[in-house]
Amino acid sequence: LIEMDRQHLIHPVSSFQGHAARGVRVLASAKGARVTDAEGRELIDGFAGLWCVNAGYGHESVVEAAAEQMRKLPYATGYFGLGSEAPIKLAAALAERAPGDLNHIYFSLGGSDAVDSTIRFVRYYWHAKGQPGRDQFISVEEGYHGSTSMGAGLTALAGFHEGFGVPYSWQHKISSHYTYRNPLKSDAEIIAASVAELKAKVAAIGPERVAAFYVEPIQGSGGVLVPPKGWIKAMREACRELDILFIADEVITGFGRTGPLFACEEEGIVPDMMTTAKGLTSGYVPMGAVFMSDHVFETIAEGAGAKAVGHGFTYSAHPVSAAVALEVLSLYEGGLLENGRKAGARLMEGLQSLSDHPLVGDVRGRGMLAALELVTDKDKKTRLPASVQPATRLFDRAWDKGLIVRSFAQGIFGYAPPLCCTDDEIDQIVARTKAVLDETLD
Ligand code: PMP
Repeated sequence: LIEMDRQHLIHPVSSFQGHAARGVRVLASAKGARVTDAEGRELIDGFAGLWCVNAGYGHESVVEAAAEQMRKLPYATGYFGLGSEAPIKLAAALAERAPGDLNHIYFSLGGSDAVDSTIRFVRYYWHAKGQPGRDQFISVEEGYHGSTSMGAGLTALAGFHEGFGVPYSWQHKISSHYTYRNPLKSDAEIIAASVAELKAKVAAIGPERVAAFYVEPIQGSGGVLVPPKGWIKAMREACRELDILFIADEVITGFGRTGPLFACEEEGIVPDMMTTAKGLTSGYVPMGAVFMSDHVFETIAEGAGAKAVGHGFTYSAHPVSAAVALEVLSLYEGGLLENGRKAGARLMEGLQSLSDHPLVGDVRGRGMLAALELVTDKDKKTRLPASVQPATRLFDRAWDKGLIVRSFAQGIFGYAPPLCCTDDEIDQIVARTKAVLDETLD
């Protein structure tokens, strides 16, 4: 398998960066929060695949839901005014649980195309309002919104920008809150600075040209950067004041990752649109969902006309994905959200207990989404040296201890375990992390 992989399978990013030399690690099976590799070695998946297997692996009821739907009706297009039962029921179930008036759902295949879809919907909205000149978009440094060209342009991670004219001229950024490395110290100062920067950016672009502002409730791929309490709310209010749409990207934070079903709930805000994916189907099959508010939907429906016909995917509202998502939703509500909240508190407590470790500069997170930022000098916040830091090296060390975590290139460990984790599994995640840190110190 390793040789066949090397010869034929292109991995995202890593195949072109020398991972092939090490050889792929083949995963063979999984149950709950544990995965087993092809050699029979069991590991705890502290990252739920790619922050997506929120419900955990191996739920027979999910498998049954998919199989039953495949037998009954494996595919139905949403084109030509057609539809099918599972996505219709799923849309209704999601609308019922969504914050505020996010009552209209568009299904995509994952997160990137959910974000791309919102970019189109935003443009349709402003066309419908008779303001087609509003075609400029703003997002936040360190953010991540996907790897399709449009999503990548809203993304601040440098690697996604090389060539291809990305970011596009209509894509702009404001600074991240990144509290640990923010020269401003108090939450109030950071919030005021971000609001002021957004307002200044809109003024510089021209208020009549700005269409929307994109934000993750917690910046995930940027290194699990948690904003100060009240930051999101202040940005939401600023967007209302500036009369620009506010889009929350909950691809990572959605579906119990931070505690409630959606992070916007606990922020007490209702975005104009919201993107989700990952935990929606818990990784069993691909699917994403855009949530659209009543007023955006009605405006587009009434006013955009011929301008709003150009969007759709063959696999949008796929019945099998929808059947899986419905079953996964019932698992969340049947105890997994609650377990995730308890396990999340234990995880944060466990990681906090490592804060005295000489390599731990910052411990942050919310619910089952957390990070350790590693430094060699706590006062100066010096990043780990290049000899230790490359993401693969820390990842490999954790792997050797029986733990899968995300290792960011900046020397950050990211955690997003399945919500089904037991106390013992959470304790093991912390203990194995400590073993990696102790070894790295040597
Ligand atoms: N938005 C956010 C916030 C994400 O974290 C991601 C993926 N990590 C995406 C969008 C893109 O999702 P996908 O990889 O499913 O296309």
